[in-house]
Amino acid sequence: MRKKIVAGNWKMNLSLEEAKTLAGELKVKMDQYKDTILEGSGNNIPEVVIFPPYLYLTGMIDLFVHDDGVSVGAQNCHHEESGAFTGEVAASMIHSVGASYVIIGHSERRSQFGEGDKLLAEKVKLALKNGLTPVFCCGEQLPEREAGKHFQVVADQLLHGVLWMEKDQLERVVIAYEPVWAIGTGKTASPDQAQEMHAHIRKLIRDSYGEQIAENISILYGGSCNAKNAGELFSNPDVDGGLIGGASLKVEDFFTIIKRRQENG
Ligand code: PEP
Repeated sequence: MRKKIVAGNWKMNLSLEEAKTLAGELKVKMDQYKDTILEGSGNNIPEVVIFPPYLYLTGMIDLFVHDDGVSVGAQNCHHEESGAFTGEVAASMIHSVGASYVIIGHSERRSQFGEGDKLLAEKVKLALKNGLTPVFCCGEQLPEREAGKHFQVVADQLLHGVLWMEKDQLERVVIAYEPVWAIGTGKTASPDQAQEMHAHIRKLIRDSYGEQIAENISILYGGSCNAKNAGELFSNPDVDGGLIGGASLKVEDFFTIIKRRQENG
């Protein structure tokens, strides 16, 4: 069954106090919301995931205990199991503190930290081996779209990053399509552009792995998704949720996005 997911990537933002306040407010809202929805007819609350900086992982995991419907993940992991990698964090460590997700291949990691296909595939392997769900990001740069190469660029990123694995591994992966030109820019892909690329991604999966896995895999959209445009983006059949940057730092906006996901089935 395909999961509907709304994920917040906090990036390198917020003091510990600010992080606690944001998470605390989100927890209250989620608790109230769940009660209202569960009293009604539907039980289609999306899974909510927050990606705080590493330092705050344990604090957030302790806060979101029990049945809050909020999972916690890391924004990155290293591509080796362990060793002399000063300042780095291993997938096994992330799992050991109780996190369940990890973002891999975010465009900021690709462009600012030179992370390429081979290294990202290693990270995905380690994430899976250590019981984490990788949220694998792909997306084209603006010149690539303007040159009509966006479908090929995304296909190549997926082929190298995740479409080499066994079926039972791919089933545990979440994909995030994040056009680089839309990240943090205020320019969002139109609902049609998002749907078209998500359908393309699902077809790539279907062609190699079959109908069932293609139907079950969650594909999130990321790139200036906000409280205003989320509803329209999520109304597309292949857009299963969002990976949200800036708008996840404002509880009202993030919560509205969660509601838009739920309202769109
Ligand atoms: C992101 O960084 O994954 C992202 C989608 O950022 P924003 O929502 O701010 O564009």
